[in-house]
Amino acid sequence: MTRRILFVDQSGQLGGGELSLVDVAVHFSPESEVVLFEDGPFRTHLEAAGVRVQVLEAPRGLRNVRREGGGGLGLGAVPGVLALARRLARAARGYDLIAPNTQKALVVSALAGVLARKPVLWFLRDILSPEHFSRPIRQLVVTLCNKVVTRVIANSRASAEAFVLAGGNLRRVRVLHDGLDTAALLRQAGEGVPDLRASLGLTTEPLVGVFSRLSPWKGQHVLLRALTELPGVHALLVGDALFGEEAYAQELRRLTREWGLEDRVHFLGFRGDVPALMRSVDVVLHTSTAAEPLGRVILEGMLARRPVIATAAGGALEIVRDGESGLLVPPGEAPALAAAIRRVLDDRALAERLVARGLRRAQEGFGLASMLVRLQGEIDSIVAVEAER
Ligand code: UDP
Repeated sequence: MTRRILFVDQSGQLGGGELSLVDVAVHFSPESEVVLFEDGPFRTHLEAAGVRVQVLEAPRGLRNVRREGGGGLGLGAVPGVLALARRLARAARGYDLIAPNTQKALVVSALAGVLARKPVLWFLRDILSPEHFSRPIRQLVVTLCNKVVTRVIANSRASAEAFVLAGGNLRRVRVLHDGLDTAALLRQAGEGVPDLRASLGLTTEPLVGVFSRLSPWKGQHVLLRALTELPGVHALLVGDALFGEEAYAQELRRLTREWGLEDRVHFLGFRGDVPALMRSVDVVLHTSTAAEPLGRVILEGMLARRPVIATAAGGALEIVRDGESGLLVPPGEAPALAAAIRRVLDDRALAERLVARGLRRAQEGFGLASMLVRLQGEIDSIVAVEAER
């Protein structure tokens, strides 16, 4: 049965969680809609995919809250948050379910759910650990979940476990790994970006790439350090500072100069053709220094038919089997990363094996269709139970 879902996301930018929501929202269109708390490229992307979008601007007090706790949700922010929750509750009329996709969206949706008497399903795409979130934020989130939210859909076991460790109610949680449109991603990777190497002045030099927003915990600096041990190896840094982390972006450029890597490090900024870019490099890298909730880029690298090296923490451990579907290295350790890159570049048979098994792993374990079937089942059961109340 078609369900009318009001999805909610705080961001106007295209992060991994936002890209994952696009496929889900498309599946539930045209009966469903996405509310964003800020305008930006995410809205354009959703609309281009045929999804209805409404922007309800977040008050400044909510926009300024940082995950590490800076600018915490002070009392001054409360009236603005309540006003936004009331607007969201009005927008939720006629929908079966409110489905927030981010933390701030969860806070506002939980309040709106109470006001509008609608069930709330939260897509949990974060590791609620002290490394990632301050204690007040973790407490607020688990309290709202335990009291108000009907179901928490965690995108990995790692996200689910951190939620429970933070005090979240285990019975509310289901683990549902993100599903990717594997056929579309294979197609988009194609044979790569034809003139990329030439445009960078490269012929046969080895080329590796990292494809994440520029943020300290995404670990691009670890790659720069590793490059100092890999003479002749070039690297693409694809991605931009999406969530106010410009200082880190500048730091990366400074390190590149300080370590004499200007000729070998290529900053490409945010790109809309990641699969094809991945296909154009010799190795796809995931360098996060803290546990990753899931790590879409790892799956995209596999679907671009490239060997993947990822850091051994969080959701990455649920995707990659070390030495089979990819290589795993300890987070934050540049020498280990350099050694793994060297290994893959030097051993063609290993690289081919990683590609073949990685591709199979992504296709068999992370397909969109089977994920949507399970999600539909969860949603049907929630809506049916609410209808009986
Ligand atoms: N991405 C992109 N353009 C870029 C860099 C990244 O479209 O320049 C995409 C990337 O392909 C992936 C997503 O952003 O789909 C990042 O997702 P991931 O789960 O790896 O990290 P997150 O941003 O959610 O922490």
